[in-house]
Amino acid sequence: MTKRKNVAVIGGGVSGLAAAKAFDERGHRVFGFERSHDFGGVWELSRSYPGVQTQSPKDLYRYTDLAMPDEYPEWPKGPQVHAYLHAYADKHKLARLFQLNTNIQSMDRRNDGLPGWTLTLEAAGKTWTQDFDFVAVCTGQFSDKNIITHPGQDAFQATGRDVIHSSEYTDPTTVTGKNVVVLGGSKSATDIAVNAAANGAKSVTLVYREPVWRVPYVAGGINFKRLLYMRAQEQQFNGWSPSPLGKALFTAFKPLIWANFRGLETLLKLQLGLKKWDMVPDTPIEKDASCSLPIVTPGLFEGFKDGSIKPVRGSFERYEEDQIVLTNGEKVPCDLSILAVGWKLGVPYLAQEYQDKLIEHDGQYRVYRLAVNPDMPDMGFVGFNSSFCTILSAEMIANWLVRYADGKLANQPSDADMNRNIEEMLDWRRKERPAAKVYGGLCSAPFHFRHFDELLSDMGAGKTKRSNPIAEQFSYPDAESYGEFLASAPQYTAG
Ligand SMILES: Cc1cc2nc3c(=O)[nH]c(=O)nc-3n(C[C@H](O)[C@H](O)[C@H](O)COP(=O)(O)OP(=O)(O)OC[C@H]3O[C@@H](n4cnc5c(N)ncnc54)[C@H](O)[C@@H]3O)c2cc1C
Repeated sequence: MTKRKNVAVIGGGVSGLAAAKAFDERGHRVFGFERSHDFGGVWELSRSYPGVQTQSPKDLYRYTDLAMPDEYPEWPKGPQVHAYLHAYADKHKLARLFQLNTNIQSMDRRNDGLPGWTLTLEAAGKTWTQDFDFVAVCTGQFSDKNIITHPGQDAFQATGRDVIHSSEYTDPTTVTGKNVVVLGGSKSATDIAVNAAANGAKSVTLVYREPVWRVPYVAGGINFKRLLYMRAQEQQFNGWSPSPLGKALFTAFKPLIWANFRGLETLLKLQLGLKKWDMVPDTPIEKDASCSLPIVTPGLFEGFKDGSIKPVRGSFERYEEDQIVLTNGEKVPCDLSILAVGWKLGVPYLAQEYQDKLIEHDGQYRVYRLAVNPDMPDMGFVGFNSSFCTILSAEMIANWLVRYADGKLANQPSDADMNRNIEEMLDWRRKERPAAKVYGGLCSAPFHFRHFDELLSDMGAGKTKRSNPIAEQFSYPDAESYGEFLASAPQYTAG
């Protein structure tokens, strides 16, 4: 009989909900903690910038047992995703498992000598400690703002002008009549630039470091889910540990693969007019594709064309009284500077000794299956990785993690197995596929099928592929099928 555990789930976003459901379903006592007043994580309403919508189409951004409502658009808006997450929490009665407004201050090994961890919690001005047998860390990649400053910022702000992080741009009226400068080239930077232009900013300048490949929601008339998400497409990227057959096929099809990607690049160049804007990236798209590949914000290139958004290549050098001096020497008038420079990846509440075991000198994370570290027993990550279909990925990992915690994986790895695999993956990222090093190596795109295959195989799933081989090769990972595959893994209840 599997022992029932006290399990802490830290975070109440997409991943925390998936983890709470998976551990609860197996009969564990789940104690969820969310520091905000509401579920949703990045989709919680007070954290979302106006106009935010998903990058993933709705049938790729969902849990296996709950489709997004039919009336939602193909790419749902932030408040719709938030409502969907609430509907999921309601369906599985997850609210009863969570304490909101509760912050985890620190996490260290239990001092009673038992396996597990002691969390220091804080809520309503009170601090206390609580012991757990297992901890699922679900605090994601977007919990600690990356704060950067540039010379002259204090004097600039003293004139009444403002500098904010992208996550603080929640009220579009703040840009009306202002010269707005957005720093960054990610999806959030372009979303904000388009939104500011649409909300009456006097001028919008988008300052980005270097061009990257961007994929429109619809490329050449085709929804990108039918271009980028197929198993057949995924196999054309240089994945980890190829089998001898895989290697041979990759070599035999090299010219076709090359032609396929050049075709895609040509399509993007023509559709977006990348040459005109001097935005053709230097790196071939097959080398670049990873979780940082942004989707084109609708209206971005139109904004370039009608002059409402001015793209400038470079970075900030310093602020002057009412302008920003860029690294290329250009001076841009500015009343509001919006820094879309991302988030600090990490687990700041985890005892330093364990952070040192987790993170390599070059910032790469030592995690097996993007979920666990053999030197840190009794804990695991859910959704610590980025992906193009994060909800499904979080659910898959959550189901894997509970079995790992219970010693119930069909392929329960030894510490040596995990360390060997971690080293192989680090080596692959460092030598074969540098694009996979983004976000500390915690990115499963574009290898979703590969990652899910491994998780399902570990879980001992009886079914891991769709019956129709054509659909399996040429269609995206659909959540309902993955629900079936998960159900085909051995089931058990702790107690
Ligand atoms: C604007 C935007 C659009 C996106 N669009 C897509 C998309 O289309 N497709 C896709 O696959 N992904 C997308 N993503 C990525 C997105 O982050 C994931 O899809 C997913 O929402 C992450 O969920 P999470 O639960 O792992 O993390 P989060 O949503 O970040 O949730 C983590 C939670 O942990 C809580 N927390 C943090 N620290 C503590 C602490 N110490 N104590 C207690 N609680 C804590 C936070 O308050 C937060 O609620 C998008 C991200 C953003 C920002």
